[in-house]
Amino acid sequence: MLGTSSAVPTARRGLSSVALIREGESFLFDCGEGTQMRLIKAEFPRRKFHHIFITHLHGDHIFGLGGLLSTLNLGEREYPLHIHGPIGIARFVNFLLGFPRPARMGFEILFHEFDARFSGTVLETPEYRVEAMPLVHTLPAHGFRFEEMDIPGRFDASLADTLGVPFGPERGVLQRGGSITLQDGRVVHAAELVGPARRGRAFAYCTDTAYCENAVILARGADVLVHEATYGDDLAEMAKDRRHSTIREAATVARRAGVKQFVATHFSTRYDGPLMEQLRSEGESVFPGLLMAKDLLRVSLPPIP
Ligand SMILES: [Zn+2]
Ligand SMILES: [Zn+2]
Repeated sequence: MLGTSSAVPTARRGLSSVALIREGESFLFDCGEGTQMRLIKAEFPRRKFHHIFITHLHGDHIFGLGGLLSTLNLGEREYPLHIHGPIGIARFVNFLLGFPRPARMGFEILFHEFDARFSGTVLETPEYRVEAMPLVHTLPAHGFRFEEMDIPGRFDASLADTLGVPFGPERGVLQRGGSITLQDGRVVHAAELVGPARRGRAFAYCTDTAYCENAVILARGADVLVHEATYGDDLAEMAKDRRHSTIREAATVARRAGVKQFVATHFSTRYDGPLMEQLRSEGESVFPGLLMAKDLLRVSLPPIP
């Protein structure tokens, strides 16, 4: 968690940004002001950093882009950077890079813009997929789900030896779920040797948004959900007006989605003090064991068994 305050920073909290680091590859979700200072403190690995996902165009989620892109450029980055976000993100970034005259960029920025109603896959590789769905906010906003592909079940090599499965393409056939016939006529099925597929891990990021069904869908069964929790019960009316969530609503999304870990973030500055405990207890009453985000909080996902 890089920035955890809503709208304006405080002494302890910067503006929205979350880093996801997986198998040496790094991703950024939102890039509020101050993000690059937090990235430095967090020792964010930039070696395999190819994608930034932007939820919406409010300043507290994008004003860190100028500084970060400038630093990446001075760092002699050569490989492209992909920025995924709502229509308008390209215009904003190009303005920054074009002011007062076009920056000489050493690397390419590739924009992948989607419209307000877009729902679907924004990035897919053989290892993972990132999906976006619209949320409910005063500007078009999208939540994201980063999901690893399922991993085939474990192949029991010693049992294969015992059964007399030869080394060679036969083992590949079994690993892919097929059946083979041995020389003596015995048939071996994958189910005898290959365990059940192991579910990939999932991370969901939903901000800024009022309570909405798409957040539940994005977060379904996720290992970690980061969801905005701008207000407490005392300001439930304001949450409605401004299309934000109370922590109780965010915790309800987490509970309904059956997530393993719920991280509340994007707190209104008025709670950044003793009132934070009030917020926590309102969230706890719905989702016991929730985490109240702090800048530089790290949440680790256990490796797939
Ligand atoms: Zn915001
Ligand atoms: Zn917003």
